[in-house]
Amino acid sequence: QNTRKPLMAGNWKMNLNHLEAIAHVQKLAFALNDKDHDAVEVAVLTPFTDLRSVQTLVDGDKLKIRYGAQDISAHDSGAYTGEISGPMLSKLKCAYVAVGHSERRQYHGEDDAIVNAKVKAAYKHGLTPIMCVGEELAVREAGNHVEHTLAQVEGGLKGLPAEQAATIVIAYEPVWAIGTGKVCGADDAQEVCTAIRAKVAELYTQEVADQVRIQYGGSVKAGNVAEIMAKPDIDGALVGGASLDADEFTKIVRFRD
Ligand code: PEP
Repeated sequence: QNTRKPLMAGNWKMNLNHLEAIAHVQKLAFALNDKDHDAVEVAVLTPFTDLRSVQTLVDGDKLKIRYGAQDISAHDSGAYTGEISGPMLSKLKCAYVAVGHSERRQYHGEDDAIVNAKVKAAYKHGLTPIMCVGEELAVREAGNHVEHTLAQVEGGLKGLPAEQAATIVIAYEPVWAIGTGKVCGADDAQEVCTAIRAKVAELYTQEVADQVRIQYGGSVKAGNVAEIMAKPDIDGALVGGASLDADEFTKIVRFRD
């Protein structure tokens, strides 16, 4: 039995304006109780424009829901129009930031070097990265999904000190399962998550690998989360679509019920 606390993180993607965000977090906070928070860490990754409102609500009502952003600039400040920096996110008391989500890799050309720079930027400013990795359908069909995903893990962690690597969250998200309703089988997800942990042990130590939380992401819903969470190397879920429904997300948090 490991001591890793499961992390259920909702990736809202480009949904919910700041007023909708407040209503949604209030609904979630009302649904969740102390027992839920003791058992599972709950986080929401919101659009940048929602963060200040969510911070005010979480601080004001002393909520146990944690929050963060969906991306971070690799730079601290300067002529990077449209970007948001680590210092800005840490000032808003973000706990987490997603880095290298497949939609960033696909639509914004983010490669492993950029992901690596963003992981380091997150740590520099006290944020915990949720580093997303995973293969496209063609890669899985060719049988290269483990190799492909481990190369992303190695690239993303390059040069990262062990004490930081030990606290990272790695989200294994097969691209073909994101937003498609096609969930990766629990055994298939476990296969890759075990390989990720072994890779971290190879790059660092077994002790570091045992601390790293590895999430599965890709069409997670209340109806399939228990089977996924039963796997020993899966320590939580990164939830897109289903996190926009507070009742559904609450059921995901209560995967043990
Ligand atoms: C995601 O956005 O990271 C994700 C896994 O989305 P969905 O749950 O909608 O597949």
